[in-house]
Amino acid sequence: MVLRPALIAACLATPALAEGPHLAADTPVVHSLAAQVLGDLGTTDLLLDHGADPHHAQLRPSQARALAEADLVLWSGAGLTPWLETPLQTLAGDRVLGLDQVAGLYRQPFQSDTLTALSDEHAAHDDHGPTDPHLWLDPQNAIVWLHAIADRVAALDPAHASTYQQNASAAAARIAALHDEVAATLAPAHATGLVVFHDAYGYFAHAFDLRIVATISLGDASPPGAARIAQLRAALSQAGPACLFPESNHPSRIIPVIAEGTQLRIGAALDPAGTLIDPGPGLYAETLRGLARAIADCAAAS
Ligand SMILES: [Zn+2]
Repeated sequence: MVLRPALIAACLATPALAEGPHLAADTPVVHSLAAQVLGDLGTTDLLLDHGADPHHAQLRPSQARALAEADLVLWSGAGLTPWLETPLQTLAGDRVLGLDQVAGLYRQPFQSDTLTALSDEHAAHDDHGPTDPHLWLDPQNAIVWLHAIADRVAALDPAHASTYQQNASAAAARIAALHDEVAATLAPAHATGLVVFHDAYGYFAHAFDLRIVATISLGDASPPGAARIAQLRAALSQAGPACLFPESNHPSRIIPVIAEGTQLRIGAALDPAGTLIDPGPGLYAETLRGLARAIADCAAAS
């Protein structure tokens, strides 16, 4: 086939996007949302390694290259992935989408349960700023992100703008149905006291009417000190039955230490950022389903 000159000119005008937009995402959940928006068009590199903690990571050279070559970087913000802040300073602002800055998000501060508020380490927690960055655990926020990603990708690749918008709308409908499904799974767990490993579940508790009575680590998932552990044990020994959850990408040695002398039942490990799930479009739903199953199972056993 012979290309007409006008068609050749059109191809030359957007050479970088000949294969669709090339994105980079910091966490598996953001990668999953981006994959749903892109569909068959373009690609998204995941910057966080399998099983790595979103709060504490660093870029390997191959990941730094992926960042440098991306048309658009999807960043959860300094409150969640502070290790990206410096590398992103070398990129033009129009190549970064700061997801914590998107308009229309529901935001709330970290959980201020009695135990956290009493802790000597509470001041360190304030260094993270007032907003809890685990925004995706409210499905409404994930839907806001889908549309924000679609808008930016459509601007990068206008020829496929309507496809990206349709993909985002279809993904939003799936997440609305997921919201109902997870709410049904968790309906029997509303009264169960939950003790969680780090202060990540405030949006999940808000969206699904759950009762978090304590967090072991603070919002940045740093290990608790001896004073905090002693304080938690003293308070939880008075607190009655509740469910205590490890996290899948953190050492679990602390869990039996916390539970000793209390009526806490130890539940399955939670994976709030989907770090151990196979990356892809389905990861976001599997992440929320996994949390719901673990909480409902422990509630049913209490
Ligand atoms: Zn976290």
